[in-house]
Amino acid sequence: MEGELCRMCGGDGRVGNALGGSSATCPSCHGSGRRAETSPGFHDVTKTKPSHHRPPAAVPAGPKVPMTAEGVQLAREVSASAVLAEDAKTRLIAEIVNHESTHGRCTRTFVKKVRKQTRPAQ
Ligand SMILES: [Zn+2]
Repeated sequence: MEGELCRMCGGDGRVGNALGGSSATCPSCHGSGRRAETSPGFHDVTKTKPSHHRPPAAVPAGPKVPMTAEGVQLAREVSASAVLAEDAKTRLIAEIVNHESTHGRCTRTFVKKVRKQTRPAQ
């Protein structure tokens, strides 16, 4: 980015070569090569990044419950399961929430896979 470079030294942090003398540390940026001025109207370049692409349901700190109809139904089946231990139920429900957050919904394959674990082995 040209605009971020020190305008006195051009970004190399040193001045003096153009005049034929010895190079010295740039007095404007003190050798960093970065533009150091803070004139009125200076805007923060770190805030210009567009944020139109957002991952679906990026709520890692939110409530750990399913959001989709399939997920809620599946979690209900897991909770009601007679063959799963409590910690296994917790783990499966967390898996449902995680699956929803990465896929945006519960895929049929996933529902089938989880549902299989809620039933007694045959
Ligand atoms: Zn400079």
